[in-house]
Amino acid sequence: MPAEVNLELTAAEREKILAHSAKFDPPGATAADGRRDLVGMSREELAIEMASIGEKPFRVKQIWHWIYHQGVTDFARMSTIAKPLQAKLAEKFMIGRPEAARVQTSSDGTRKFLFKFRDGQEAETVYIPDVEEDRGAVCISSQVGCTLSCRFCHTGTQTLVRNLGAPEIVGQFMAARDSYNEWPSPKGDTPRLLSTIVLMGMGEPLYNYANVAKAMKIVMDNEGIGLSRRRITLSTSGVVPMMDRAGAELGVCLAVSLHAVRDDLRDELVPLNRKYPISELLAACRRYPGASNARRITFEYVMLKGVNDSEADARELVRLIAGMPAKVNLIPFNPWPGTKYERSSRSAIDRFATIVNDAGYASPVRRPRGQDILAACGQLRTDGKRERASRDLDAAATD
Ligand code: SAH
Ligand code: SF4
Repeated sequence: MPAEVNLELTAAEREKILAHSAKFDPPGATAADGRRDLVGMSREELAIEMASIGEKPFRVKQIWHWIYHQGVTDFARMSTIAKPLQAKLAEKFMIGRPEAARVQTSSDGTRKFLFKFRDGQEAETVYIPDVEEDRGAVCISSQVGCTLSCRFCHTGTQTLVRNLGAPEIVGQFMAARDSYNEWPSPKGDTPRLLSTIVLMGMGEPLYNYANVAKAMKIVMDNEGIGLSRRRITLSTSGVVPMMDRAGAELGVCLAVSLHAVRDDLRDELVPLNRKYPISELLAACRRYPGASNARRITFEYVMLKGVNDSEADARELVRLIAGMPAKVNLIPFNPWPGTKYERSSRSAIDRFATIVNDAGYASPVRRPRGQDILAACGQLRTDGKRERASRDLDAAATD
């Protein structure tokens, strides 16, 4: 049966992607002084660490609470743990945070962090407050650089340096929470300033699936940060075989960077399209688990003047997504130094939005935020470099 053949192919390809991705994994959890970082470990891994110092499994629950609910970084503040054990823990372990090498706050309240990790690599994280309400989104990076090279994206001009590890992905969120002093983690429906996570920073999260999944499971854990899967959105440029896995295993909200309605144009704008063309991408969206009217798939569409912003494009978009629980997020292009693209005019964006909206799909126009500090979508970039041999590996990944 052709359908079965397809599934097998997908599974094989998934293994290939995961194996390739592992080559870009970060250095381990041990600091230069020999202490191991507990942040980013799964409960099972924490249990192994506790056993290694002769402690019982119930310590995991206790420590988890202090790290992820209370947000402490100092074992001496773990008041439910006796002093001698606090000292023993501090000798062997640490509760790390990425170092905030630079923090900039935009005139509109958006805050951009440049985080430096233990090996000196850096990535950017952006907090975007909701101007009317006490809540906001934390835009998290998943890789230093990106293997893909979408033509309109600043990150895409930077070669992939490495994946971010689970400690670094969770750490971005925790360090942003430190910056707003939002500990302990608010429970249940209590309003949160840092209320959602969008995996829309640097990198392609589905090319670093193992670390992203591990980090999101930690963030979703109810005895810690406790962010529900409905408050997490993963944005992908269309790594089809991994979309199924993310849906089944994490069930987070999905955003797909569509940006073009014809394969010839999408091949150019999002080169990954040559591997996973629009029809395959949309089929993966249609089978994405948990998609419903309450949890619609977001199609991101960057508005590029004279490139993808005609009324015919809008009508074709509506035809492509017909019958899907979806919304379309129109992103006015954010320019960066050296780009050849321009932002569509306000009237072109409005005309496009009206056609999509009239067809029954919400089509919000994303207001550019933090432009004065280059914090808007697609503007993130660091100076990280990787030696030549590894750069050749990048090229192999996009064959
Ligand atoms: N790699 C993932 C997530 C990061 S990018 C992805 O591509 O989906 C988050 C969103 O910003 C994507 O939709 C991306 O295509 C878009 N984007 C990239 N560069 C942009 C730019 N210069 N202006 C506006 N949006 C951009
Ligand atoms: Fe990578 Fe996303 Fe930028 Fe494309 S848009 S280069 S996938 S970060």
